[in-house]
Amino acid sequence: MKALLETNLASAAQPLELLDVATSTNTYSANGWSYECAEKYLFRMGKKLIEAGFYTHFADASMEMVVKQVIELPTSYGCPMKCAYCAASCIKGIMVLPPESLFEMTDLIIHAHALPADCKILVTLTGTGDAYYTLNQIERYIAVTSQRYRNASFTISSCAWTDSMLKRVEKMAAAHRFRNIQATFISMNDMVTRRLIPGLPHESCGIFEFINHIRTSLLRNWRINYVLLNAINDSNRSFRAFMEAMLPIKDKVIVRISSLNETLASKKSNLKPSSGDHAAVLQELLIAKGIHAYLFHSAHNDNMSCGQLVLERTLMESSDLFCQLSSPMKETAQILQSPSTDT
Ligand code: SF4
Repeated sequence: MKALLETNLASAAQPLELLDVATSTNTYSANGWSYECAEKYLFRMGKKLIEAGFYTHFADASMEMVVKQVIELPTSYGCPMKCAYCAASCIKGIMVLPPESLFEMTDLIIHAHALPADCKILVTLTGTGDAYYTLNQIERYIAVTSQRYRNASFTISSCAWTDSMLKRVEKMAAAHRFRNIQATFISMNDMVTRRLIPGLPHESCGIFEFINHIRTSLLRNWRINYVLLNAINDSNRSFRAFMEAMLPIKDKVIVRISSLNETLASKKSNLKPSSGDHAAVLQELLIAKGIHAYLFHSAHNDNMSCGQLVLERTLMESSDLFCQLSSPMKETAQILQSPSTDT
């Protein structure tokens, strides 16, 4: 699959056309901010619809204090990981986006906000795509973007870290400013994880190998994204096992306890969000042991955050809205509704 994606890269360098910008505001439980103004830039690339986000995070709803500005970029169209809870897993077809497309999206968003070249911007490469498949592109993107925007910092994420990827990221983090290096956590039981992330390659680290890598790493900005799912990983037993595993690396990690925002994919997979009470129990347990942990959830589901597609909102809200969509958005909507088949 990896080789196939790289072969597709040459044909992926097609022009981007900005179709629309969707906006939303939302209240959040998060780390150091609680109100978000979100924009989703909807680009057409050939017959594909690509979504990139721009988020302004405020301390509170008064919007007086900006905590940070974030560009969230996809690194592929569709995603081979096919996580059972993620909207991108319903997209038919997969194409890695070339760095040139990521530069174009970044420049357009920065210019749309009249941000200076020395702006403090966080670029998270956590939209659709996984670093396991897109690390070559991410590496080139970060090297060039760090020069163009010297105060840019970066977050990258994978469900499938491997030893060689982790070594490369350690080198990248020595040369560029990284805010977080994130790993998705589903279960201490690798079989459960593999069931919910069917695209997980066999060479990826199991949870204990990953923890061992962090233990010996010089970096201290690892983030574990605990995707909290009803009846999958929200029992006291699951929480205690996770807490015990985190103890040896507690000075190097921050745990984000993420509530599931339902998507077409999560509904098809019959996955449900866990209750806020469970999230609070896990957070308290971790904090009591000196592990930095915070809750991450939005007050309402606006389809604007990672793991979601704004296009799904138009599909779910009303069929009238679907009729008003432009042709490329309709085509993408139909692709999303059809059974998934990789190319
Ligand atoms: S959560 Fe990330 S890795 Fe999983 S399918 Fe979605 S984009 Fe891919």
